[in-house]
Amino acid sequence: MSMVGMGFVEGEMVLRVSVGIDLGGTFIKGALIDEQGNLLVKDEVPTEASNGAQWILKRIEELTLQLIVQSSTKRSEVVGLGIGIPGFIDPSRGLAEEVINIGWHDVPVIAPLQTALDMPVYMENDANLAALGEAWVGAGRGYRNALCITLGTGVGGGVIINGKVLQGESHMAGEIGHFVLDPDGAPCNCGHRGCLETVSSATGVVRLARERIEQGEQTEIQKANLTAATVFAAADRGDRVAQAIVHEAAETLGRGLAIAANLINPDVIVIGGGMARAGETLFTPVRLAFQAYALRRVAQAVTLVPASLGNDAGVVGAGKLALYP
Ligand SMILES: [Zn+2]
Repeated sequence: MSMVGMGFVEGEMVLRVSVGIDLGGTFIKGALIDEQGNLLVKDEVPTEASNGAQWILKRIEELTLQLIVQSSTKRSEVVGLGIGIPGFIDPSRGLAEEVINIGWHDVPVIAPLQTALDMPVYMENDANLAALGEAWVGAGRGYRNALCITLGTGVGGGVIINGKVLQGESHMAGEIGHFVLDPDGAPCNCGHRGCLETVSSATGVVRLARERIEQGEQTEIQKANLTAATVFAAADRGDRVAQAIVHEAAETLGRGLAIAANLINPDVIVIGGGMARAGETLFTPVRLAFQAYALRRVAQAVTLVPASLGNDAGVVGAGKLALYP
């Protein structure tokens, strides 16, 4: 059987699909993705990282095969597997170099899975793939140059230029979370102080709240069950201390985004992750700070929007990576 012209064979449409996997500390999520970015089936299995790297790679292999069976897709229609890794990687050597939350150091990923599954396998950092997914069929659809960030326990970032992940020389491009915005600030996991994510992440917001409570400030925020969501909710109800914390997180984020935008001049900035659920309580002050600090022509070119794919961004981006490597 030969492929003819526009992907048609004897009048029948040739389906090209891929499997996207998002490896997380708690769950391995997977989905079958078609060329238009539709999610055909999805599933997840627990990571159980303590069982070791080989065990996890076996789960990825099984999940991939299971998704293909569940979707009744022909094996020949699956063009490849894309995997998002939550840490530092070296795609040229096919290695996950350092993945702290599942305890991986220099784990070969590409070769064993290619051998086991007999299909091309691609890997990328998970934040970059979430960015790629959003830029492809999420909130960044239709834009050319996207800066995408994920506000979670840290702040992940990815830069998508003309549909491709900007990787950089050692695969570190887009690390907006580690912009040092206050050299005398709080210590960061990376070893520096005052990185953007020490303030503008869920962890950062909780830290700021705890500090203010310990200083005896009058607030309805309680130290028990303290989360970023409870701080944003208190700010919505008019709590002055909570509002000051939200302002600090948003101001810092807006400043970081302005620095990044002055460098890459994007047409869209997509903000996702758990903290983005705070909606306009977060977005309005972030937009104001962004406009205050970015060059005017840079700010005018940008639309700043919430992410739209939610937890699926990573698997969709992984699927795109395998469909259009
Ligand atoms: Zn840092």
